[in-house]
Amino acid sequence: MNRANNLKLLHSESFDLLIIGGGITGAGIALDAASRGLKTALIEKNDFAFGTSSRSTKLIHGGLRYLKQLEFGLVKEVGSERAVVHQLAPHLVVPEKMLLPLYEKRGFGSVLTSFGLKLYDFLAGVKPEDQRRMLTRNQTLKQEPLLNPQDVKGGAIYAEYRTDDARLTIEIMKTAVKQGARVANYCEALDFIYQDGIIGGVKAIDQLTGASLEIRATVVVNAAGPWVDTLRDLNKSKQGKRLHLTKGVHLVVAHEKFPVKQAIYFDVEDGRMIFAIPRGRTTYIGTTDTNYSGSLEEVFASKEDADYLIRAVNQTFPSIALSLADIESSWAGLRPLIHEDGKSASELSRKDEIFESDSGLISIAGGKLTGYRKMAERIVDRVMKKYFEEQFTPCTTDKIMLAGSDFKNSKEVNEYTAAVAFRLRLFGVEEQAAYLVHNYGKQTGLILAILETLENNTGVIALVKAELQFCLEHEMVLMPSDFLIRRTGLLYFNRPLLDELFIPVLHLFKEQFNWNNETYELEKAAMDHWINKTNNFAV
Ligand code: FAD
Repeated sequence: MNRANNLKLLHSESFDLLIIGGGITGAGIALDAASRGLKTALIEKNDFAFGTSSRSTKLIHGGLRYLKQLEFGLVKEVGSERAVVHQLAPHLVVPEKMLLPLYEKRGFGSVLTSFGLKLYDFLAGVKPEDQRRMLTRNQTLKQEPLLNPQDVKGGAIYAEYRTDDARLTIEIMKTAVKQGARVANYCEALDFIYQDGIIGGVKAIDQLTGASLEIRATVVVNAAGPWVDTLRDLNKSKQGKRLHLTKGVHLVVAHEKFPVKQAIYFDVEDGRMIFAIPRGRTTYIGTTDTNYSGSLEEVFASKEDADYLIRAVNQTFPSIALSLADIESSWAGLRPLIHEDGKSASELSRKDEIFESDSGLISIAGGKLTGYRKMAERIVDRVMKKYFEEQFTPCTTDKIMLAGSDFKNSKEVNEYTAAVAFRLRLFGVEEQAAYLVHNYGKQTGLILAILETLENNTGVIALVKAELQFCLEHEMVLMPSDFLIRRTGLLYFNRPLLDELFIPVLHLFKEQFNWNNETYELEKAAMDHWINKTNNFAV
């Protein structure tokens, strides 16, 4: 709501640290730095989480697959981080048992899998009650009757967590702001400001008004994900290691079309592994891993990607006959990995790396959503040791609860959800309780308070009106896509509701931002583009 003032202050103040990029990496660094007392700023050229951080598999996971690549250090770090991130936001990072079927003719045998999962639990320090459990053939088929009885020879259940990546990024960003960070979306770094050959800030543009601004900082961190090398190029420092982008696609179908009983991680014939994860009224399936060299701004699933995933499902679950026409939605993200000669997309390491240029630009790439806190700790330790040594304090983000997360554990989340459902009954929308609490945690109370003040306050449109008001006031929502894609996930997980709400939501934006008809039509076309690009495979 006070974005203009915020940008003015970004321009007039001077910062210890400026972060470019508002994905999970940038948000994590902003929170860590601000909580250690650094005067911190962050700019994001699109909406927060516009890049890879809204297009992942949405798991807080240890990366079982990386054991195959013998990346024990990575598995230990991200595996251990799962429980920490769950503690920081128990409503948003939710335990999810994963079923791993074992087959006669592909994948690993049961002895090797049993050992691998034991190692996985050991490295990550998983509590005894959550440790892996091996299943017989019958137990596996009972757990998931859709599996092929001709093929399955057993299975295993192991512990992971699911989340919403965009919401996690936004809550980390809001927590950083609470700690004093100054952040802005739709503000792009166009060039660097140098003093005696050393970076002292950036020249930026406000994408909404076209106004230029300069932001001064002692240190600039490049956390631009797939765009990291674009900024290194601008800094003339792209030497040695470089990014290798690979695309990963997910498809969303109605749960009734692919009614898996729980999250499942299955082998496909080409040796890759794919997740199928139930979420609300849908099941999502992914991912692919292919080299990418197209536009960084327009990343969507192709018909070929969709065919591959549909075939994988139909081969593994014989009673399921998905077709392209069943795809309700999809998303595609780019992994900003570090190039290694001679390695294929799937073989590249997921470990993060830090590069520092002669002019002082610190770039960070690679890594996982799950490891955001540790990546941030490494960057801020480095910045403080080099530039602010006398102020050095250790990282405490493992103790800073994320915005909306005033819960001790999952039991409290469930109790709160039941109380919210009770209150929502008055407005005829009690079935929305779980969604609201998963998305907003205790901030649901603020949304309900807005709902109570509305004149017509029953039904789902009234609730969305209250939700939008909350997001406008607390989450820097500026465009319909910010709300319909990244704050609510409606584009991906509730197409029928999106169809019902699309025009009413556009009218609310028109009213809120005083759009003229031309702006309204432009914004409608922009959202229509997203809708078409994410489900138009059957034509
Ligand atoms: P991004 O999220 O891309 O953020 C970079 C931001 O920088 C962008 O928003 C961009 O707009 C902004 N930017 C770029 N240039 C500028 C500029 N000049 N000025 C201002 N802003 C700029 N990890 C997990 O832990 N669990 C998973 O389940 C998982 N699944 C994945 C599945 C897929 C298909 C993919 C692709 C990745 C997955 N990952 C997963 C990895 C994880 O999603 C990424 O490591 C993480 O999201 C990267 O975040 P980031 O902040 O570095 O990049």
